[in-house]
Amino acid sequence: RDIHRFRMAVRSSAVSVAPIFTKLKHECATPLPLLRHVADAMAADMRAGLAVDGGSDLKMILSYVDSLPTGYVCIYVYMYVSSGIGVPCHFDPNSLGGKQERVIDTEFEQVSIPQELMFGTSEDLFDFIASGLDKFARKEGGKFYLPSGRKREIGFTFSFPVRQTSIDSGILIKWTKGFAVSGTAGRDVVACLNEAMERQGLDMRVSALVNDTVGTLAGARYWDDDVMVAVILGTGTNACYVERTDTIAKLQGHDSSSGRTIINTEWGAFSNGLPLTVFDREMDDASINPGEQIFEKTISGMYLGEIVRRVLLKIAEAGTFGDSIPEKLSTPFVLRTPDISAMQQDNSDDLKAVGSILYDITGVESNLSARKIVIEVCDTIVKRGSRLAGAGIVGILQKMEEDSQGLIFGKRTVVAMDGGLYEHYPQYRRYLQDAVTELLGLEISKNIRFILLQNRQGKTRLAKYYVPLEDSEKHKV
Ligand code: BGC
Ligand code: MG
Repeated sequence: RDIHRFRMAVRSSAVSVAPIFTKLKHECATPLPLLRHVADAMAADMRAGLAVDGGSDLKMILSYVDSLPTGYVCIYVYMYVSSGIGVPCHFDPNSLGGKQERVIDTEFEQVSIPQELMFGTSEDLFDFIASGLDKFARKEGGKFYLPSGRKREIGFTFSFPVRQTSIDSGILIKWTKGFAVSGTAGRDVVACLNEAMERQGLDMRVSALVNDTVGTLAGARYWDDDVMVAVILGTGTNACYVERTDTIAKLQGHDSSSGRTIINTEWGAFSNGLPLTVFDREMDDASINPGEQIFEKTISGMYLGEIVRRVLLKIAEAGTFGDSIPEKLSTPFVLRTPDISAMQQDNSDDLKAVGSILYDITGVESNLSARKIVIEVCDTIVKRGSRLAGAGIVGILQKMEEDSQGLIFGKRTVVAMDGGLYEHYPQYRRYLQDAVTELLGLEISKNIRFILLQNRQGKTRLAKYYVPLEDSEKHKV
């Protein structure tokens, strides 16, 4: 009887799910011509954003970081906003050896930001950060280098779009990644943190502000001189790269002695030529920033699990998972990207892990055929996202190559990667790499190397902002 029931289940799910699934696969397909179109559009949008402010979806923000590390590292703070905040570390400038020995010591701690602070006031959020810093500084106090009578100067990595006005100031353009804190947009985030530290009685002052991509690029350059691009694929997504100042038409009065500067693309706002479905459109409509960050909503960790959940809900409505639809499956964002990654790592014949993750998280009871469908849905959404991310990277490289003839494709060029999605989702990484290889061809893609900055020293997260030796006095970071 069991076998009979199983056959019935297979047959009925195959019948009811087929059209939904076929349509999904068709709409999410990313064949080479589509990827090429996305890469070209990315390059074109970059140029438009460099020409005039507001000239394209891509903001192409000046970072005011014009020189990259050649010397040693001092103190950094990074705020790991999507999941916590970072902490200051001390690097002893007097006992530095060769390149590999320049990072003397790092201490870090991750503190999750309570959900309610994501929707609270600016003061509450920055007070929380300042108090986390305070606790850390007290605990690690002995390790800090504190010039007497001077405020400890810290670097601040902030993972949101900021219109920088100098290396140590910048206005928050808007929140992303589900944050809706009131009173920060339009304000200088450095002032917000400095004021909170003052309220906290903390003797620190922010002297450098960087986007997380910029911190990743500068940090990676510390290890590898060929790093030209940095990409974050985590909760959100973004990319930055080294640009020639003479190609930036909108740049006025910003002198860079190096003739180079890092540009923060804010590519999460890209939207041209993306293969979107009804599930994407409905998720966007229900989001707190409808119409914004469309690339981010298609490729980044905050959203992949949610897109899959929306597809599964539709499939459940077709009767695949039994007669009733579990309430949990109707709850936005219950299914997270780490869950779909975990399901995709199940290689067992009966997909037992898939079954139990699915049941624990969504309340869905599944037989083998249903589990197979679930895995295929995950794969479809993840493949689309990662291949589009790969096309975005190629777009950036292509733009740089057009302006420098051979200096990107004709030699070793490194893309520094960071973010939990890239780090923890093997299929995502592989599909991304495949798309890059398809687009560039075997010969050129051999020159393009991806490195993951995180965890280069065992469990230690590398510093997010590095100050060149000769500039360390100037920035006093
Ligand atoms: C923000 C970027 C950030 C990226 C990765 C995006 O939502 O707009 O500034 O770099 O997330 O953290
Ligand atoms: Mg991050």
